[in-house]
Amino acid sequence: MSALLRLGIDAGGTNLRAGVFDEQGSLLWQERHASDFSGLCGRLAPPQALAQVLEALAASIDAALAAQPRVGAVGIGFPGFIDPTTRIVSASPNLPGLHDVDLATPLAVRFGLPVALENDALAAAYGEYRLQPTRSRGLLYLGLGTGVGGGLVLEGRPYAGEHGVAMEAGHLIVVPGGRPCGCGNRGCLEQYASASGVSHHYAESTGERLDAERIASRAVSGDAEALAAFRQAAGWLALGLSHVLKTVDVGDVVVGGGLTRSWELLASHFGEALEQALIPALRGKVRVRPSTAQDRAGMLGAAFLATPDQNRKTP
Ligand SMILES: [Zn+2]
Repeated sequence: MSALLRLGIDAGGTNLRAGVFDEQGSLLWQERHASDFSGLCGRLAPPQALAQVLEALAASIDAALAAQPRVGAVGIGFPGFIDPTTRIVSASPNLPGLHDVDLATPLAVRFGLPVALENDALAAAYGEYRLQPTRSRGLLYLGLGTGVGGGLVLEGRPYAGEHGVAMEAGHLIVVPGGRPCGCGNRGCLEQYASASGVSHHYAESTGERLDAERIASRAVSGDAEALAAFRQAAGWLALGLSHVLKTVDVGDVVVGGGLTRSWELLASHFGEALEQALIPALRGKVRVRPSTAQDRAGMLGAAFLATPDQNRKTP
């Protein structure tokens, strides 16, 4: 009998991405569809919003099983704080107003499959780690999108922390009393080093509110204010990352997320600022690269967090 397959679902962005992998990590099937959960709780009562999220995840699992019936385990990367023991989502930016939600158990019962649930950035970190040609002892992943997500792999294992909050690097306070953040604090890194941070920087100097993609195209055409907005974001990213590296001392850092489509606009100042902010013992020793796997890392990491049920009867 051939080995069972794994399904990994990345529910972290505006698309829900599902991929089926074999034991070697080769992608055998994938599907994506738009699934912007973030507005759901504004439109629906919390129980209905939760039901819609579960239905979207179930539809993905259904499609994967129809295409690849030998799927023996499901892993899901979901934004939010996820208890490492119970897998309960204590809070999620995609489900505002909902607390202590169990997504894994209803899906496991419905499909008769083991379902693992992990923070989406941590799943991406683990996927990036598995994709490295040589495995180092640790890897830090930062996802730069609307916010800044983080995930840490230590000694080959994803590290979620005691309460599922480890490596919430986006909420490191870099400007005490600074811009308000969705977490309730002020001056968090994600208000400065994310796509929304770039928009903010640009609006502050020009009075014009544009998304980071528009600002990137202006920067490419030589708009000095647009270039400065990316330079500012790169500086803040370097500062935040230097604090994390001084704390966890990992050798590999992968930066992913939508903003890395403009990595070349961040890279030059980022490299210089990071070297300055690191302690001398770490200078020149940390490998930082933009993700080349992008979408795939989140699915792969989620898939390999799940353990297939070897006793499952498959066609
Ligand atoms: Zn915050």
